[in-house]
Amino acid sequence: MRSPIADYLSQLHGDLLKLTAGRPYQGIPAMAGADTSKFAIALATVDGHVYKVGDAGLEFSIQSISKPFSYGLALDDQGLAAVDAKIDVEPSGDAFNEISLARETGRPANAMINAGAIATVSLVKDAETPRFARILEQFSLCAGRELHLSETIYASEALTGHRNRALAYLLRSFGIIETDPTPVLEDYFKACSVMVNTEDLAMMAATLANGGTQPSTGVQVMSPEAVQRVLSVMTTCGMYDDAGAWISAVGLPAKSGVGGGLIAVLPGQLGLAVYSPALDAHGSSVRGLAASERISRDMGLHFVRAA
Ligand code: GLN
Repeated sequence: MRSPIADYLSQLHGDLLKLTAGRPYQGIPAMAGADTSKFAIALATVDGHVYKVGDAGLEFSIQSISKPFSYGLALDDQGLAAVDAKIDVEPSGDAFNEISLARETGRPANAMINAGAIATVSLVKDAETPRFARILEQFSLCAGRELHLSETIYASEALTGHRNRALAYLLRSFGIIETDPTPVLEDYFKACSVMVNTEDLAMMAATLANGGTQPSTGVQVMSPEAVQRVLSVMTTCGMYDDAGAWISAVGLPAKSGVGGGLIAVLPGQLGLAVYSPALDAHGSSVRGLAASERISRDMGLHFVRAA
């Protein structure tokens, strides 16, 4: 028997397929030709149930949705105070790739913009297990299955990521990054090139909703303190210069990625993920935004009740 939620999601999916605005991200050549007819929605509850519709098994690169999960790893590796000393928690109101560094210290405004996310990667411990392997393992533990890197997308971003390279060298000049920036950048590009599907993202979001414990495997991936911080920064900064409009309309901590993925988290309840590669001017999925707004309204998920 079909559940009312599955029926609701199918109806919504059909309605929003009609939206054709936006276009795929052009900044990474390997992603520029993504098929804009693809569209998936997945909802995962904290007890591990997944509702999905559309192309929910189709893989795409995680891009900036990597940032909250790398940030959680850095927070658990170093402690909150040590990470805060390098990366602030203030919304920048700027685009994701803005050169948003404090004038005297070079401290990035937050860990969701590229400058802060590159600094975040440098704070993930490079131990017996190398740093990127630890990042990939963290993402996999949150998804509940083994994820992999797209060498093609990684190579494409490494070839064209001059602005990120410049940011990393600026961070190095201020001492925010204390090591050679090149391996840090490589690991940042790799973190963005991890392949996920919409169901994976819903499980990753549900892991945050569930205080850091993956709902289906029961593995504690992140400490509750790190989760609280990650969700706070996602609330104020996860949608970059669209964060105010997003929180007004949807009212949930969220993160978008230029791969076309978008996650939103209702703490204690569920993780929502949407995929469709046509983006708006802020680099967020057009159908992703529309689906999140509709779901938040129809299911009453906004953190402030309207009635
Ligand atoms: N890899 C992309 C970049 O660093 C991620 C940007 C994004 O998803 N907003 O530019």
